[in-house]
Amino acid sequence: MSDYKIETKCIQSGWEPKNGEPRVVPIYQSTTFKYDSSDAMGRLFDLEDAGYFYTRLQNPTNDVVAAKICDLEGGVAAMLTSSGQATNFYAIINIAEAGDHIICASAVYGGTFNLYAHTIKKMGIEATFVDPECSEEELEAAFQDNTKAVFGESISNPSLVVLDFDKFTKAAHRHGVPMIVDNTFPTPINCRPFEFGVDIVTHSTTKYMDGHATCVGGAIVDSGNFDWEAHAEKFPGLTTPDETYHGLVYTKKFGKMAYIMKATSQIMRDLGSIPSPQNAFYLNLGLETLHLRVPRHVENARKVAQYLANHEKVAWVNTPELPGSRYYKRAQKYMPNGTCGVITFGLKGGREASIDMMDRLKLVAIVTHVADARSCVLHPASHTHRQMNDQELLEAGVQPDLIRFSVGIENAEDIIADLEQALA
Ligand SMILES: *Cc1c(COP(=O)(O)O)cnc(C)c1O
Repeated sequence: MSDYKIETKCIQSGWEPKNGEPRVVPIYQSTTFKYDSSDAMGRLFDLEDAGYFYTRLQNPTNDVVAAKICDLEGGVAAMLTSSGQATNFYAIINIAEAGDHIICASAVYGGTFNLYAHTIKKMGIEATFVDPECSEEELEAAFQDNTKAVFGESISNPSLVVLDFDKFTKAAHRHGVPMIVDNTFPTPINCRPFEFGVDIVTHSTTKYMDGHATCVGGAIVDSGNFDWEAHAEKFPGLTTPDETYHGLVYTKKFGKMAYIMKATSQIMRDLGSIPSPQNAFYLNLGLETLHLRVPRHVENARKVAQYLANHEKVAWVNTPELPGSRYYKRAQKYMPNGTCGVITFGLKGGREASIDMMDRLKLVAIVTHVADARSCVLHPASHTHRQMNDQELLEAGVQPDLIRFSVGIENAEDIIADLEQALA
């Protein structure tokens, strides 16, 4: 599929039915697969032959959808997981273990921050968080001998920082480790991190990819560009024998597919965060219209941001879409067609005014979600960051009056009219 344009890939990639097969990818709602001989099945268990035997490891519906996401990102291999959280956990645990270290941009999704700051720490993996706008020297100083990866978000949720891809990927490669980027917010429609030297891309497919707020899910895509063998001493899990597969060496056996093959046949085998084939099917329906929805989200977000920026009761608006934004130029470089539909803003009346305005919205709903077809808002100080006082909020980069507005694909005039009456 790789020669087609991205719109065509959204529709057609992944599933290529043979003569007489269903035009639409079938839902293989089966945990198991039948074989004629014990030996045939045994060869699958040894990874000697490719094939399905148990859905915890691989399922044909899930694989078709993973292949589509792989093609959209321009990678060589991909896998689905049951959530964005599982994805960002697997992406690290596949190459780091107790005693290892990672570097993470501090502007990341709260769930990712908790995962890397606390949960993997209990497993012996330490994370250093760096300001995404740090100098090259500061970034350099964060590396240790045991550093195994650098992680960031292409556009951070909810702070909307556009990643300095050049700075981060170059530093990672100078130290012989892969750059991993969570590309959930721009999606491959607006940004393809592999074109900027990133090695591995992760997604919470729950957001724009699904697009309809129906299924929690995640995906990991490998560019195939990182040379694990060249840094073999850092990545023994990929470059030395896996005793659970009779001494198989992933890089020797699978070449550019090594990282995803290990994540599927070892990490997924043991931890089991698979999506249901039914959910993969829904995700695929979302992907078919991703190229239509994402530009409309961006267009509506621009209109709403411009409206808010001109409103007398609005104190500030943050989106890389506005030329006044600190990230406008960088967004033009890495995402020239637009960024995403999420914006943040605050009201002059502060926290109380923000809450009051949200309660008056009629079309736009208060929900703990972003990036689906329906416009929605969240007040982090009252919701996701509720336990923090104002001082702690500011330290976490969340202004007490900050409203996160996920602009949907309704008619922009209706969204603005709802804001108008709520602000009045
Ligand atoms: C939502 C989100 C996640 C977590 O994904 P889930 O599917 O909710 O587990 C990770 N990264 C980003 C950028 C997100 O927005």
